[in-house]
Parts: sequence; C-alpha cells; structure tokens
Amino acid sequence: MKQHSINRRQSRQIMVGDVAVGGDAPVAVQSMTNTDTCDVAATVGQIQALQTAGADMVRVSVPDMDAAEAFGQIRKQVSLPLIADIHFDYKIALRVAELGVDCLRINPGNIGREDRVRAVVDSAQEHGIPIRIGVNAGSLEKDLQKKYGEPTSAALVESALRHIDILDRLNFPDFKISLKASDVFMTVAAYRELASQIEQPLHLGITEAGGARAGAVKSAIGLGMLLAEGIGDTIRVSLAADPVEEIKVGFDILKSLHIRSKGVHLIACPSCSRQNFDVIATVNELESRLEDITDPIDVAVIGCVVNGPGEAREVQVGLTGGSPNLLYRDGKPSHKVSNDRLVDELEKMIREQIEQQRLLNPANEAGSAKPVVQVRVS
Ligand code: SF4
Repeated sequence: MKQHSINRRQSRQIMVGDVAVGGDAPVAVQSMTNTDTCDVAATVGQIQALQTAGADMVRVSVPDMDAAEAFGQIRKQVSLPLIADIHFDYKIALRVAELGVDCLRINPGNIGREDRVRAVVDSAQEHGIPIRIGVNAGSLEKDLQKKYGEPTSAALVESALRHIDILDRLNFPDFKISLKASDVFMTVAAYRELASQIEQPLHLGITEAGGARAGAVKSAIGLGMLLAEGIGDTIRVSLAADPVEEIKVGFDILKSLHIRSKGVHLIACPSCSRQNFDVIATVNELESRLEDITDPIDVAVIGCVVNGPGEAREVQVGLTGGSPNLLYRDGKPSHKVSNDRLVDELEKMIREQIEQQRLLNPANEAGSAKPVVQVRVS
C-alpha cells in the first residue's frame, strides 16, 4: 500500500514511565478511568481492560488524599504508566509522586503560592517524572475570560503560556501540554499556534466531544487535522462512553492516517445488492473474533468483483465475493470459499499470516508501537 509522508513537528521527548512521548516516538494513545479511584479493584480492572485494548498510558483522577492512597494501591497492581489528574492541591501531587506516579497532570498556575509550585517541581525532578499542563476552555482563568469575552484559541494559548512560563522560571522543561475545547476549529487553531511557539510534546484532544458516535466523528476530524499536519505526540479521544472505546477510536484515527498500526485494519465495502455474501454480518463477526489481535495487519472484505480484486491486491488477507468467492493472501488469489465457511477461513488465514509476520519480523509483534508512516522530522 502506498505510504504517505507526514512531516512531523519536532518535539522534545519526555518519558512517561517507560513510554516515550514526543520526538520520533510513536503517537501514544491514552484514556482515563471513570471509576471511583477509591474503589481500587474497579479501577485496576478498568486499567487492565484499557491495557488489553492497547492503551499506552492511563490517567486517573486523584481528587483528595484518600484517592491518593488508593492510587498507591492501584500503582502496585498495574504495569501501564499512570498519570495522576490533580487540581489545585499540591500535597496530593507530592504524595502520588512518592507512591510511584509516572506523570502529574497539574496546572502550575492553579497551585497557588510559589513555594508550593516549587515543591511540586522539585518532587517531579527528584522522581524523574514529567508534568502535563492541561488547559481547558471550560476552566479558563477569570481574567482571561474577561479579556477575551469568551473562550477563544488565543485565550487558550495565553493560558498555556502562563503555566509554561512558571515551569520555565523553575527550569523544568519536561512537560507536555494540552489545549482542549469542545469546538474543533478553536482547538485546532490553538494547537497550531502553540506548536509554533514551544518545543514540548503536545497531547491532543477535543474535550467533551460527545457520545460514542458523535464524539468519535468530532475527535477524528479535529485530531485528524492536526495529526495530518504532523502535530501531536499523544492523543485522547474523550467520549461519554466506555473508556475502552476511546482507545479503539484513538487507534482507528491513527490507523486511518497510517501513523500507527495496531490490530486489524479492516477495509470493507458498505455492501449493496451486488454482494455475494452478507458483508455486514461477516465484518461484525470477524471484528468480534479478532479483538485479541494487536499485531498490525490489513484485511479487505469486499462483497463483489466490482472493487474486490483491486482492494484484495493491496492487503495481506483479502476476500472478494463472486461465483465463487475468492480469498487472497499477500495480494494474490489463494483459494475459493463457500459462504458458510467465510468467517472461519478468514480468521484462520489472518492468524496464520500474523504467525508468519512474527517469524519474519519479531519487532512487529503484539504491543509494538511501530510508526508506519515515513516520518520526516523537520
Ligand atoms: S464492492 Fe460490490 S457489493 Fe460492495 S458496495 Fe461495491 S458494488 Fe456493492
């Protein structure tokens, strides 16, 4: 398949646990738990479900000291890098740093007195953990709300620069930053502007994007615009839905742009009266059977010969409806298959193909985060 080039913005790389963010690292996909953090078992269960879905890191709200202690328990039970989401109370940040957090999401400008900010930065430095600044259109500083009248991209950037300025003065460069609004144009304009002004990695998101379908569409448009321009080092798709969906949509966005490949990239026709088998039922069944696959593989399921052979030639495993239906392996016709054996045969071929890929290229194995776009760093 033809590879497209994205000139990725050069950013300074930071480490969130053992996951690199920025520089030439793959764009990381993250989500946030929505369990009560004090319910350790439920939160651990959700983090593990996110890990199974392919999350690179997970953010956890830590609203008070009880939650900080629970966070310590959670930390011991999961292996993914964890980001603690903290607002205002610097003591919570100090505590989770001791308990093994991998990144602090806290806005320096909201901590208050300078000695408190310094204490958080010193602790981050001592434990080798980065900070994430998170600017949100819904919680802009009062004076900026007054100055701009309403949230704007310029207001988001000005707010971000204030927080950045505090870290600059404390000589702390290991941060990433997000500038989220629920409006796509405002978000995109803000990220574009900030991307030209700083070297730190950017965490992309459209906040409060909506429910599973509308939120996925909105996020795909906003994040897609930026990622296609090479802006963005880590992403979160915010959905009013199961966080596991956020990870799936995040990867679908990256897969669509050939930025990162993980799991099955399924190309399927929408089907019409020409179909020689039930395309939609086949795709649904296949998707549910292949949920465990994290190795990258391109698969085409096409209902008839109008587009089937052309698509099948471009993928590792393909199916074209016809009389008879034809399966393809590595772009070449392989064998005929009857309608009642379609899903079984496709699943078998996909799993065999993955085994073969692993033998040929172990670096591509499950969990790897290989960028598949030729990234030119400018
Ligand atoms: S590929 Fe064939 S079955 Fe699928 S939508 Fe096109 S014409 Fe219809």
